[in-house]
Amino acid sequence: MIIKTAEFLMSNSDVDKCPKNQIPEYAFIGRSNVGKSSLINMITNHKNLAKTSGRPGKTQLINHFLINKEWFLVDLPGYGYARVSKTAKQKFQSFITDYFEKRQQLISAFVLIDIRHTPQPIDLEFMEYMGVSGIPFSIIFTKADKLKPMAIERNVNAYTEELLKTWEETPNYFVTSSSKNIGRDAVLEFIAATNTEIESMR
Ligand code: GDP
Repeated sequence: MIIKTAEFLMSNSDVDKCPKNQIPEYAFIGRSNVGKSSLINMITNHKNLAKTSGRPGKTQLINHFLINKEWFLVDLPGYGYARVSKTAKQKFQSFITDYFEKRQQLISAFVLIDIRHTPQPIDLEFMEYMGVSGIPFSIIFTKADKLKPMAIERNVNAYTEELLKTWEETPNYFVTSSSKNIGRDAVLEFIAATNTEIESMR
């Protein structure tokens, strides 16, 4: 997919105020500092798109970007534990869970994981929440430039093995580096193929 246009549309904290357009939507989410802004800027080929909504507190907002006037890229705030653990759902900020449960335009999410770390409980719990809620997602491993190929493989396998303890199959995943421009085409091709599939079902 060639990115012709990428425009910031709006930020808000209420899923009911998100754009009403019936176009496919893809959401990016992960813990803060995982490399989400850098990834969005790489994917859209803009130096500062993910920051253009930048106001204090923007990280607590749902940010909509219109790409090629065809699909929405949604930059969601970093998740963190909202309260001391209860059910998986109650662990995350309510406007995040509201977004996933109510946003019918959402086609798929990308859960970002820093490839350097061993599987972390909060990320595993977030994926469990997504699975239990029936929300399709892929994993995007970030910062792959920080590791050698063998370490990348080892860490991806560690994640896969951890997920297979509770999942029947592992989600689709991408290995990326925004510094080295790795993985951009694969993510964009996945979105393009999914959009084509949706179009053919209409
Ligand atoms: P966000 O908080 O998830 O939006 O993360 P940012 O995109 O702001 O990145 C957090 C930090 O990680 C910044 O210091 C980035 O420069 C760094 N970073 C992001 N992506 C990469 C990457 O692909 N490789 C490396 N080496 N550093 C990265």
